Amino acid sequence: MVICPVCDAEIEVDEDGLEEEQTLTCDECGADLRVVSVEPEVDLEPLDEEDEDDEATDLDEEDDEDETWK
Ligand SMILES: [Zn+2]
Repeated sequence: MVICPVCDAEIEVDEDGLEEEQTLTCDECGADLRVVSVEPEVDLEPLDEEDEDDEATDLDEEDDEDETWK
């Protein structure tokens, strides 16, 4: 049993089976959580979805003009 850092709900999970970098989902608030450490006790942190910078990939299409006939 571990505690969700977002909503403080108890998440039913076998602590002995947890590994670092494993991800869990809180049943209460639906948050995606990452196991940052398992010793001396299980430590979870919420995955920050706002860090994704998908918009930057839109600039990759600048090279289209190179495909004109030569
Ligand atoms: Zn939660």
